Amino acid sequence: MLRRMSVRLSMLASGSQGNCALVASSQTRILVDAGISCREIFKRLRSLSEDPSAISAILITHEHSDHVYGLATLAKKLRVPVFLTAATHAAWSRALRNENGERPQLEKLEKFESGHRFEIGDIEVKPFTIPHDAVDPVGFTFRAEGVKISLATDLGYLPVNVRDHLRGSDVLIMESNHDLEMLRGGPYPWVVKQRVASNVGHLSNAKLADFFDGDYDNSAAFVVLAHLSEQNNHPEIARREAERALARRGGLFNNRVLVATQSEAMPPIRL
Ligand SMILES: [Zn+2]
Ligand SMILES: [Zn+2]
Repeated sequence: MLRRMSVRLSMLASGSQGNCALVASSQTRILVDAGISCREIFKRLRSLSEDPSAISAILITHEHSDHVYGLATLAKKLRVPVFLTAATHAAWSRALRNENGERPQLEKLEKFESGHRFEIGDIEVKPFTIPHDAVDPVGFTFRAEGVKISLATDLGYLPVNVRDHLRGSDVLIMESNHDLEMLRGGPYPWVVKQRVASNVGHLSNAKLADFFDGDYDNSAAFVVLAHLSEQNNHPEIARREAERALARRGGLFNNRVLVATQSEAMPPIRL
């Protein structure tokens, strides 16, 4: 039987200025993070012929502003359930208190716990804990129609439990944040450089290459490099490093490497 290729992924925006991705099946459409404005999310969805009013839910990885900047407006406009952990929700609403101490309300709040799978329509979602300096940060795996999509960005390194979750993915969205030399020689203040490079900061091109070189199972038809630093990385450097590591394992023929950008939506991957 011919598969219908109705599962799709598009990175609407990726990088330290804002993150948002669309994971969709034939019946369900999930936005992962809302780190750019609602207006820009709608614009980018329409540029892919996706109807914003058809979105089923919003999922949040963690409370950093490059992941929640547009959330309050987006949730109000779409009136769909917003899924986040209790700690992430508390941190988000605390940060958005007004001068009277009033916190923003989400009309349809759904709390999840890391490590516990749940379903949104016909998409199974499994959140897993990642090492990052937020209150309760998670990555996700998505399963629908026999396809597995995994997303792991905003993490300082790749612990064993994360590697386990990534196994068997058809699409792997991985952080490839910085080139270590560019970070060292770049414009950031020393403390920020320390934070980015730490085990609760962001994944370097080299750490990702180590994963591809090591216990990566070569399962993904598509590898998406995400959350690239505009200051401390270059898309071609990130791509070259990932492709070299995949080639050493003989896996470059299986894995098509794509680079997600800050400025525009990536054409959808269809599976
Ligand atoms: Zn973050
Ligand atoms: Zn981020």
